[in-house]
Amino acid sequence: MSKVTYVLEGLGCANCAAKIETAVKAVEGIDEAYVDFSKSKLVYAYDETRQQQLSMDAIVKIVHTYEPDVIVKTPEAAKSENSSSSETRERLRLLTGLILFAAAMVLKGLPELVTLALLLFAYLLSGYPVIIKAFKHLFNKQWFDENFLMFIATIGAIGIGEYPEAVAVMLFYEIGEYFQDLAVGKSRHAIEALMDIRPEIAHLVANGETVDKSPEFIAVGDVIRVKPGERVPLDGTILKGETDVDTSALTGESKPISLAIGESILSGSVVITGAVDITVTKRYEDSTVTKILELVEDATAQKSPTENFITKFARYYTPIVVLLAAMIIAIPPFIYGFDQFSAWLYRGLIFLVISCPCALVISIPLGFFSGIGNASSHGILIKGSNYLEALNTIDTVVFDKTGTLTHGKLAISAVTPADGTDADALLSIAKRIESHSNHPIAKAILSAGKTVPPRPQPNTGNIGFVDLSERYEELSGMGIKATLDGKTYLAGTEKLLKTHQIDFTPIASPVNTVVYVAEGSRYIGSITLEDQVKDEAFAVIDALKKLQKQTVMLTGDQIAVASAVANALHLDDYHAELMPADKYEIVNRLIAEGHQVAFVGDGINDAPVLAGATLGLSMGDLGSDAAIEASDIVIMKDQLTSILDAFNIAAQTKKIVTQNIVFAIGIKVAIMALGVFGLSSMWMAIFADVGVALLAVLNAMRVLRFKPDRLNFTA
Ligand code: ADP
Ligand code: MG
Repeated sequence: MSKVTYVLEGLGCANCAAKIETAVKAVEGIDEAYVDFSKSKLVYAYDETRQQQLSMDAIVKIVHTYEPDVIVKTPEAAKSENSSSSETRERLRLLTGLILFAAAMVLKGLPELVTLALLLFAYLLSGYPVIIKAFKHLFNKQWFDENFLMFIATIGAIGIGEYPEAVAVMLFYEIGEYFQDLAVGKSRHAIEALMDIRPEIAHLVANGETVDKSPEFIAVGDVIRVKPGERVPLDGTILKGETDVDTSALTGESKPISLAIGESILSGSVVITGAVDITVTKRYEDSTVTKILELVEDATAQKSPTENFITKFARYYTPIVVLLAAMIIAIPPFIYGFDQFSAWLYRGLIFLVISCPCALVISIPLGFFSGIGNASSHGILIKGSNYLEALNTIDTVVFDKTGTLTHGKLAISAVTPADGTDADALLSIAKRIESHSNHPIAKAILSAGKTVPPRPQPNTGNIGFVDLSERYEELSGMGIKATLDGKTYLAGTEKLLKTHQIDFTPIASPVNTVVYVAEGSRYIGSITLEDQVKDEAFAVIDALKKLQKQTVMLTGDQIAVASAVANALHLDDYHAELMPADKYEIVNRLIAEGHQVAFVGDGINDAPVLAGATLGLSMGDLGSDAAIEASDIVIMKDQLTSILDAFNIAAQTKKIVTQNIVFAIGIKVAIMALGVFGLSSMWMAIFADVGVALLAVLNAMRVLRFKPDRLNFTA
């Protein structure tokens, strides 16, 4: 499947955006399409085996059926231009219209003909784009197009001699649209600036010199140099030099971290103190920064229930309002007589002016997108508006223990050999068994006796053959079974050894995690590992309780260890000695009982439960593919407080979106109700149309600037 993106410049009508989306999707061979109104983008995916890429002309034709003024461009072309000259012209046009209109209204002594001429001129000047669009849409049989309805409304007003009214509606409609475009454009820029953390060039090191290249053209294994103050363009490991890096663009965390030779460095972070040479380990398209941006950019494709509701609402709203207008114009004259016809006509025209659901269709998606943008600037990647909205419904938060509630950076506190083995031998055997595991326990054992912990090898669970005499099998939630030099070794839980009929005496009620080790059928000792509860866990659990959320911990560790952690944190419930499948079961049961469950885990052996929960949140493993893949929300920073940030941003998004819905619908209904009784005017109607839309857009932009207050908020 291939993906193509176009920029739709001048896309000002969210209603049409939805129609374009449907039309592109309907083309044979196109599997997916969406128009992102808040970013003026059309993206579609096609299956190369069935369909060629659509030509630009074909796309233009579809787009112009619904939005004749939109200019379709490739993203590259759109980037290299700016439209400041057309903006100046637009401003001049509206200003002139406004002056002509004001002159006609204020200068009382003018002959009637001059006043009329001024008004006519103002009408044509401000209204000609609307009139042109109206006829184009009419030609495409789009009866409920807003331009067409606006045209009818103003022509009607002229027909009954309400000239100033007609001009005002046209003029303020266009002025409103202008400011709305400005506001939408501004928030688009703000969101883009927030997210565009992709460097344009990479300094490739070749023969001791550096050559500047576009990061797309750098291969795995190439060496690049990053100087202080520059952003890292591709993922890699440090080959030369050491430095502090700022990862705030990825994690929202501004405290720098120090990196030395051999450590991995992620694209998107900024080198602060010293220049480093980096061996590239991932191509541009696979590098962290690219993946994050794609994820956030695609997020708006997954619409929230509220957005879907608004789309549906918009489909019915316009025809219904237009029908009401027709009834108000047509029916009363038969009841009250035709001498009142023009009064009823005026009332009907008011309905036409407010017949566009624009305020909602524009501001609601913008609100959600701003929420996603805001979250990403705090190191929280939300994969869809639906997940952002779902955060508000969560009543139960389930945590994995190791690496989530605890640091997961375990330290060996005791090595207890048995059966004639000595401590060093036990530890070195354990190291061989664990040599390919990525589990926090394995990392701790492997780093014992070394100062710098080794980088973990990439690992996908079961390892399979390394060479013919070595075989490693990771038994999720239990430990490792390895075959070395023809002998079977086990390292893991009590249960693991018991299921292999190993005879041994486990430690009674351990307070720390214990790894039992066996060689063949012989028990050779245990290794005790100490972990620590994260400092912020106490405050976070407390805050979640204040938000009325149930807190539960699930772990594969022993009961005694689990209960110590659960009691210290005052968790509502916990379950221990679980296999990954048991975790999935428990979460499923909670959901079946009617709970909305968020599962927070580290992504290591938690994939099923992350996917099974109402919302899966992964954290801690910065940029790991497995975590990004399996979860709905990725927390880039290893800090539990981010969960509160996520809830907080979701609550704020919902609040503002709800305000907009109530406000926009409320004002429109009020003006319509007053209109029926002849108590509202076209002036009020035009405010209810564009004024409200503008206010709603400005309100939605507040989501972007919102600062989460993690420990003191109420949902
Ligand atoms: P948690 O639910 O706390 O994240 P896991 O499901 O990852 O725990 O693991 C459960 C238990 O299985 C661990 O407490 C440990 O005893 C054992 N275990 C898992 N992986 C390993 C390993 N690589 N080496 C030894 N023991 C392991
Ligand atoms: Mg785990």
